[in-house]
Amino acid sequence: MFRRLLIANRGEIALRIMRACRELGIETVAVYSEADRDLLHLRYADETVCIGPAASSGSYLNVPALIAAAEIADVEAIHPGYGFLSENAHFVEVCQSCNIKFVGPPPAVIAAVGDKVRAKEIARQAGVADVPGSDGPVRSEQEALQVARAIGFPVLIKAAAGGGGRGMRVAHNDVSLINGFHAAQAEAETAFKDGTVYIEKLLDRPRHVEVQILGDQHGNIVHLGERDCSLQRRHQKLVEESPCPILTPEQRAQIGEAAVRLAHAAGYESAGTVEFLLDRDGNFYFIEVNSRIQVEHPVTEEVTGFDLIQEMIRIAAGERLSFTQQDVVQRGHAIEFRINAEDPDHAFKPSPGLIETLIPPAGPGVRWDSHAYQGYRVPPHYDSMVAKLVVHRPTRRQALATARRALDELVIEGIRTTTPLFRRVLEHSDFINGEVDTGFVDRFFGQK
Ligand code: ADP
Repeated sequence: MFRRLLIANRGEIALRIMRACRELGIETVAVYSEADRDLLHLRYADETVCIGPAASSGSYLNVPALIAAAEIADVEAIHPGYGFLSENAHFVEVCQSCNIKFVGPPPAVIAAVGDKVRAKEIARQAGVADVPGSDGPVRSEQEALQVARAIGFPVLIKAAAGGGGRGMRVAHNDVSLINGFHAAQAEAETAFKDGTVYIEKLLDRPRHVEVQILGDQHGNIVHLGERDCSLQRRHQKLVEESPCPILTPEQRAQIGEAAVRLAHAAGYESAGTVEFLLDRDGNFYFIEVNSRIQVEHPVTEEVTGFDLIQEMIRIAAGERLSFTQQDVVQRGHAIEFRINAEDPDHAFKPSPGLIETLIPPAGPGVRWDSHAYQGYRVPPHYDSMVAKLVVHRPTRRQALATARRALDELVIEGIRTTTPLFRRVLEHSDFINGEVDTGFVDRFFGQK
């Protein structure tokens, strides 16, 4: 096992990784930007290193600064968390050349699945259906029109390097297709320095269902069940739950097996997520692989009892998976709510600033993953998530009751958060009945 590990991230996930390391007896090195001197996990670190200015390009994305910190602090491994450099194959190569173990998949796997067009090819080779669409990238207006007419409108233009819902455009006809094609290319070029786009059929009110996988360095791959992440705003997840409330045991087994097949075809290693859309007829279609730990991993941890971050670290250290597929059992129901510093009453405008009062919920069935504390100032430079409230109960009904109770207990003053939105969502009969699709939040707010 590693003696010392550097956490190349900030916020709640840095704290989460810190907790895993401390329980494994691994020393930790925390890095921070000039805007992040007050981060909670810095208090628990064995060593802290300032790596640059507030702008993440100069700090959390600054490869030379991170590697210098790792070498000076003499670490054996780096955990990247999510976002920032977690899916950057170049960074992994640099780590390797410096003899530092990156806690994640090998660079070739990250590069292969990070290109969504290649990931779709891998899925097809593994016999896993992807959303019908273009056969590879779409390079011209003419090609875009041909593909759209063949699969039928409406279609979705997507960025091959995409993430975070960027570089995505819906088209209902020829005119919006041409406009969307150029807009998606330009957005992808700016966001990812890669303007490659492809086209998929726009599924009608699908659910987002994803499978957690874990693979070791010895070719063993298991899945840890699914998460339903249908509650989204503008293609960004807000609430995630496990298990998916509407899957039959047969569908659950099928989607899990499909994810493992795909992971084998990709030579997958470490923790990852295989994402699918489930249509209204119960068919599921692969959309992408995320080659990192995800924000919503705690719902899987609660339901399966495995510590995913510790598992990732053990895998990176070369250990074999200590359990098999038969050992994975889903117990009860878990739901996660992303408490973001955003104002849901004003178009989700970011709301950074001083947290004057914070009373987090607690008690039976409640997990609070957060770096926020009373007196902490949420900086304006980064992702707006300040906490993840996770509830876990024997049944979904009980989980909903615990969620209502926990959200009522939660007091955050000084900044606006998504909390009031979740209180309303929990009163909505569609959510209570487990009948939401990816357009639910946008429609729900559209009604107002
Ligand atoms: P990103 O990597 O940018 O998050 P994804 O491919 O994971 O993009 O898709 C994000 C979300 O966009 C999905 O959860 C779903 O809500 C929506 N989406 C993606 N592809 C389709 C599609 N073909 N039809 C309908 N909705 C889609």
